[in-house]
Amino acid sequence: MKIDIASPHYCMICRFNACHDEFPICRECLSEFQDLISAKCKKCKKSAFSCKCHGEKAPRYLFTYSGSVARNLIYYLKENADKRTVDFIAELMVRACGIKTESFSAVTYVPRLKRKIRRAGYDQAKVLAEAISRIYNIPLITALERLPGKKEQKLLSQSDRRKAAQFNFRSAEPLPEVKYKRLLLIDDVSTTGATIQACAKLIRNDYADSVVPLVIAKTPIIK
Ligand SMILES: [Zn+2]
Ligand SMILES: [Zn+2]
Repeated sequence: MKIDIASPHYCMICRFNACHDEFPICRECLSEFQDLISAKCKKCKKSAFSCKCHGEKAPRYLFTYSGSVARNLIYYLKENADKRTVDFIAELMVRACGIKTESFSAVTYVPRLKRKIRRAGYDQAKVLAEAISRIYNIPLITALERLPGKKEQKLLSQSDRRKAAQFNFRSAEPLPEVKYKRLLLIDDVSTTGATIQACAKLIRNDYADSVVPLVIAKTPIIK
């Protein structure tokens, strides 16, 4: 991750215009970003962060994963995120989705595949969870481990994804002697929800009485 305070930062959406203050979006991209996060769910007509169309157990999310602004932003966070952008997104996820951080015992994340961490140099879900931990002063824990050698989720069909997701992770040792009351579980994008639900299930078994999944973006409901 690039943490470089001295140089001008580039806009997290166009990656072309420089931004010199704490805000990681240039003036040209600002209205597109506002449109993205204020877009209403096509089904219930509510904003992304109030929509419950994906079910009660589905993650809370900041925006729907569709369009170039959403794709650019997620791609930027995966490959090239700087601290300022990560902090900005972390705070926005928490605030917009109405997450009351004081009610959580700890924050954790859905871990990335090791080879992807090697390529990017970091795990984007982990750096988001770290930012939430630091900004809101709640402990960060590693509750899950990714098992090696599993097929990529996006190569599988929807029903195969649900089955596969259960076998891609395990609870990280050592398990806590006493379960946490409530954990916040962070990921970047949720597609079918299979991964984050499998992870939430493991956490409820081994780590916490309850878990609230929170992601940056959710793929739209196609109906
Ligand atoms: Zn821009
Ligand atoms: Zn909805």
